[in-house]
Amino acid sequence: MSFPYEAPASQSLFDRASAVTPGGVNSPVRAFRAVGGTPRFMVSGTGPYLTDADGREYVDLVCSWGPMILGHSHPEVIAAVQEAVARGTSFGTPGAGEVELAEEIVDRIEPVEQVRLVSSGTEATMSAIRLARGFTGRPKVIKFAGCYHGHVDALLAAAGSGVATFGLPDTPGVTGAQAGDTIVLPYNDLEAVRAAFAAHPGEIACVITEASPGNMGVVPPLPGFNQGLKDLCAAGGALYISDEVMTGFRVSKAGWYGIDGVRPDLMTFGKVMGGGFPAAAFGGRADVMAHLAPAGPVYQAGTLSGNPIATAAGVAQLRLLDDAAYEKVDAVSAELRGLVTAALAKEGVAHRLQVAGNMFSVFFTDAEVRDYDAAKAQESFRFTAFFHSMLEQGVYLPPSAFESWFVSTAHDTAAVERIAAALPAAARAAAGATA
Ligand code: PLP
Repeated sequence: MSFPYEAPASQSLFDRASAVTPGGVNSPVRAFRAVGGTPRFMVSGTGPYLTDADGREYVDLVCSWGPMILGHSHPEVIAAVQEAVARGTSFGTPGAGEVELAEEIVDRIEPVEQVRLVSSGTEATMSAIRLARGFTGRPKVIKFAGCYHGHVDALLAAAGSGVATFGLPDTPGVTGAQAGDTIVLPYNDLEAVRAAFAAHPGEIACVITEASPGNMGVVPPLPGFNQGLKDLCAAGGALYISDEVMTGFRVSKAGWYGIDGVRPDLMTFGKVMGGGFPAAAFGGRADVMAHLAPAGPVYQAGTLSGNPIATAAGVAQLRLLDDAAYEKVDAVSAELRGLVTAALAKEGVAHRLQVAGNMFSVFFTDAEVRDYDAAKAQESFRFTAFFHSMLEQGVYLPPSAFESWFVSTAHDTAAVERIAAALPAAARAAAGATA
């Protein structure tokens, strides 16, 4: 498709970036490969808005892929960061900020008795899996197709049909050995999990799952799925790891755990808890966490773990996230979902809006999406047309049909009205799109 509108300053930056950085970006989905066109280079953000290098303003429905739940440049978060920065940027010693952040997490999420801070969600899941293997003395990990847990070697394994019990490397650079202990199963399929436990008695260290997946688009667990995983883990002597990097502190005060109440052995967090800075964590049962160095033998470390700026931002953001804040985000999300559905329905576009708390995404299909295969069966070309129409009209959506949309407490009436004004043309573009 052609792109009638121009972004010369972004294009120029992208050209320079492409000369010095593979693909011009530092995280692949930012490159617009799935939708085409020039990625927008953002220079500032305020509340629900982003401004790009060409001076165009967008209502932001990506929110940095989740973290910016209070909107951009929230004055109290910025003040906390400025105050922390003035005291120094990294000490390589323990500090009060990391105690405060750990206490915030433990206070909010009852199954987390102890927590270890790291700098990215990838580190959190990688470390949680190492800990699960160290604790159980077992090698194998069950994960689900379509769930993303960061770019951990063992967790990039995905399996096509017919190879469900053999992890196959999904990317060059991951060896068969690294992926060989990963069992990839279809999401929402408890029978497959039961069969895997039966096929590998005494070998499975853990099941890791997104608490409610958002990385194949939003595909919530069917009723009883997470509890079933927990029960199968308990019966099979494995740990149940709930990855709440995306849902944690976003869909409720206690994340997805606050919604379904299924008690994991270990949990992973990131995004919202860092207030826009690199902070993430894993935590859970105290007897399991006691196996981590220096308390126990499983090694894990980080030069910048618990960084004072990141922890100051995270503590400030979490303290602002009270019940009223979640009610606000839930209400904006519900309003937007209604507007999107109405616009698409008016143009007769087959679509399905799937929701997990205040996270949602649109699948361009009639059918319910319960797993990755169903997600991939949608008419993604309609999303491409929809995305570019919205972008042209100043609404920044995730540049992929397989991502959640995110809103914030800063999405006020004016921001929602701008989105509402853009939707009819975008729905028409989706209706008229061809593969
Ligand atoms: N787990 C989930 C559920 C995620 O959504 C992500 C990132 O999107 C990660 C882990 C990895 O986090 P990070 O990108 O901070 O490494």
